[in-house]
Amino acid sequence: MPSEQEVLDSMRQIIDPDLGRDIVSCGFIKDLKIDGGDVGFTLELTTPACPMKSHFLESCKKAVGGLPGVDNVNIKMSAQPPRRYQGQGAPQVTENLKGIETVIAVSSCKGGVGKSTVAAHLAMAMGREGLAVGLLDTDIYGPSFPTLFNIHRPQMFGHNKKIVPVEVHGLRVMSLGFVLGEAPAVMRGPMVSNYTAQILAQTDWGSLDYLVIDMPPGTGDVQLTIVQQAALDGAVIVSTPQALSLVDVAKGILMFEKVNVPVLGVVENMCSFTCDGCGKVHYPFGRNEGMLQDRFGLQTLAELPIVSGLSDLSSPDAGADLEVMARLAENVHRAVGVSRTGKQQMPDVVELEAAVKVVWPDGFEGVLPNKELRAACPCAVCVDEYSGEELLDPASIPDDIRFSKINYLGNYAVSFEWSDGHTTGIYSWDYLRDLAQKAQGKV
Ligand code: ADP
Repeated sequence: MPSEQEVLDSMRQIIDPDLGRDIVSCGFIKDLKIDGGDVGFTLELTTPACPMKSHFLESCKKAVGGLPGVDNVNIKMSAQPPRRYQGQGAPQVTENLKGIETVIAVSSCKGGVGKSTVAAHLAMAMGREGLAVGLLDTDIYGPSFPTLFNIHRPQMFGHNKKIVPVEVHGLRVMSLGFVLGEAPAVMRGPMVSNYTAQILAQTDWGSLDYLVIDMPPGTGDVQLTIVQQAALDGAVIVSTPQALSLVDVAKGILMFEKVNVPVLGVVENMCSFTCDGCGKVHYPFGRNEGMLQDRFGLQTLAELPIVSGLSDLSSPDAGADLEVMARLAENVHRAVGVSRTGKQQMPDVVELEAAVKVVWPDGFEGVLPNKELRAACPCAVCVDEYSGEELLDPASIPDDIRFSKINYLGNYAVSFEWSDGHTTGIYSWDYLRDLAQKAQGKV
């Protein structure tokens, strides 16, 4: 009969590619029981939609089954409970969303970048995986779903004093436009927040694997209300290469982080088109490869091409490349999984006298004096985002500069609240590591 240690050790070569560690040290193996040649345990993944699910299951079966003395391997699959942000949202709102496993927002800083189109295609791709998916359009000024799905003023039904979402291509879809009509509403902030809160609370979502919320563009109060009341698991930011202004992306990140919602990554929409004459792929706005990763530690979840008809979802695929959309959905599942494991893989930050020491999980450490750290602020106020020219005069930084607070931005970056009032710099862990390596003369 194998020992517990032997069983666990046999699975230590199975690596979770997103967490960069083996599944045993990630704590995925639970309730291990060994009874003669029968080995049973629970494999607890980060999210039920984990795309690595069957790979892990097969690898575990093979590894444990290959141990001498093992006759049967019995593996139960489960997933960590959602790590929902518990905001000050009305309690009935949270109650209403209790049957939903994962809630994500699709957001953009500007209008017209394809946010609604991306939200709908992401939901469709998840639906094609067999998941139960809801899709909510919260844009009161210009609801897009009636046009997107070509459903105008549908007949709405009630159940348990709640509105039943409209079933479209297997999704449960709800839009303020279904209820209020499509004319842009003339309303002020508090009324708008009220409507969005109501539509969230009063839709009968039932039990869902995912609710995808198409947010109104921008980063104001209405957006904050939705974020808090929906208890989001994460947010996807949509941008286009020409609108990919770092200032805007930074604003979006900071808004979500203020309320503890991790940004899962960015979808870069309308990046390229394929010439119908010669078949060549063109990138009319250039490519921003690696820029988001470098500046914010954020991953690009998908680069979507310009495809005519993509926003006509009266037919289920609307001419989209289904493989690209499936990869987008997979990247979102993986990012949700990583964010649920929280800070496990994050470096430690230790505050010293007038400096910080950062210790990375691989043992690398660096000490960065406050003044140098402030001078290296990468935000658009301090560095010109297009030319890279330094706008901050290091001589203007007080020698005794300090920070009152460090904010952890998901598991990819930190921001500092500096004593000179500056707060907009996002320092990704990679950027801090570069600074630390430069300080040690290693680069
Ligand atoms: P938003 O929700 O950001 O305002 P929409 O999803 O309504 O943006 O899209 C804005 C416009 O851009 C629509 O006319 C839509 O058809 C078009 N569009 C969006 N994404 C694409 C794409 N990848 N290819 C072609 N047209 C697109």
